[in-house]
Amino acid sequence: MNDPQTSARVAFRPGFLVGNLAELASLRLAGSRCNECAITLLGERHRCENCSSADLSHQAFASHGVVHSYTVQRFAPPKPNACLHPWVPRPLAWIDLADGGPRIMSPVLCDPDAIDIGSKVSLSCGIGWVDAEAREVVAFQFILTS
Ligand SMILES: [Zn+2]
Repeated sequence: MNDPQTSARVAFRPGFLVGNLAELASLRLAGSRCNECAITLLGERHRCENCSSADLSHQAFASHGVVHSYTVQRFAPPKPNACLHPWVPRPLAWIDLADGGPRIMSPVLCDPDAIDIGSKVSLSCGIGWVDAEAREVVAFQFILTS
């Protein structure tokens, strides 16, 4: 699995996104599936967090899923974390990615009153911040699709 990098953009963390960083709509979350216990993990791993097996397959995950649970983040995260300016409360959800993907935590870009358990969401990658080397850092969030 390749992890393309452009000179002007980098992923928020290596091994978590696949696709062309210059084309944000092409990006998918990536990770590992354990061939021993079948658990899926966000981000490329070399050892399973569940059973310690080193027999893992790397894959791109579905770009949509369902909200398992959520809370409303009412305070901005402390620096150096990137966040909205000005800060507005946002849903922070556990999302079950489709097709057997992992359950991941992510901000969901919507009115906190619009989200619910079972809401359908889809991946939305964008520029989260600019790093110390003036590179755009590509991050992800989800948007409501129903
Ligand atoms: Zn395992």
